[in-house]
Amino acid sequence: MSDYIPMQAEIIDIDIESSNTYLISLKILEDIDFCYRPGQFVMVSVFGLGECPISITSSPTRKTLQLCVRRAGRITNGIMDCLVGDIIGIRGPCGNGFPLEIMKKNIIIAGGGSGFATLRSLVNYIVDQRSKFGNVAVAYGARTRRDLYFMQEYKGWQQAGVDVGITVDIGDESWKGDIGLVTSLIDKFKLPQGSAAICGPPIMINAVATKLMDRGFDHSDIFVSLERHMKCGVGKCEHCMIGPYHACKDGPVFSYDKVKKLL
Ligand SMILES: Cc1cc2nc3c(=O)[nH]c(=O)nc-3n(C[C@H](O)[C@H](O)[C@H](O)COP(=O)(O)OP(=O)(O)OC[C@H]3O[C@@H](n4cnc5c(N)ncnc54)[C@H](O)[C@@H]3O)c2cc1C
Repeated sequence: MSDYIPMQAEIIDIDIESSNTYLISLKILEDIDFCYRPGQFVMVSVFGLGECPISITSSPTRKTLQLCVRRAGRITNGIMDCLVGDIIGIRGPCGNGFPLEIMKKNIIIAGGGSGFATLRSLVNYIVDQRSKFGNVAVAYGARTRRDLYFMQEYKGWQQAGVDVGITVDIGDESWKGDIGLVTSLIDKFKLPQGSAAICGPPIMINAVATKLMDRGFDHSDIFVSLERHMKCGVGKCEHCMIGPYHACKDGPVFSYDKVKKLL
């Protein structure tokens, strides 16, 4: 399959994840084995509108390919206006994904806002192969309770022996959990040294990485997923350069020691 030619994918299910976000399940209508790893993304096209990068939020350990799409502009509106049975285009998987072969077995996964979509793939990958990993913790923060994704999954993660901390910036009477920044959750976890996977706004990535380094994590064991404006997704157009790196091809996952000065 060419890097440039989208495959057709049928929307087989749509769940409302938050006020402006849908979880979309897809069936690829080509005779291929679509293999991917947590942290990779696809270029999604809506015919007549164009294409944009969207992280794969499902885990490769599960059957259905899923994307979590937040309304941002023309193309994401176009995706979210689709109905079950409609066809969209998919190119990929693109990017490198999390380097599980070199990551340590103790893992902290920290996400802020919509950046958590790509981390859900990693969380469910670990949950499905729990015995291969050690201490695992998830720290996730969103603006309000209504902005939290995947709420129905947290309990299952805890039952699989994952420490789960959830926080919101602004609480209300229906929210009984933590209020504050994702960094405040890190203090609550017993964290033997290991690896980290982080995705969110750059300010959050830096704050979490700094906190983890204070706790003894090496900067080369901290992996950050970076979202940049992207056009081609395959390292040709140079829209997504971060210093010397193409975010689409060399990333979107980088070890923190490589990119901390570039963030
Ligand atoms: C590797 C990667 C993974 C992504 N994963 C997801 C995902 O899982 N779900 C999801 O909903 N979105 C994701 N995005 C973001 C999505 O690709 C952009 O929001 C995209 O531009 C939407 O296109 P649009 O035509 O709907 O909006 P546009 O009209 O292109 O943009 C709307 C607004 O978003 C800004 N914007 C565009 N791209 C980015 C960017 N990369 N970072 C910050 N601001 C941007 C624009 O400047 C504009 O203000 C990802 C981006 C990258 C690079």
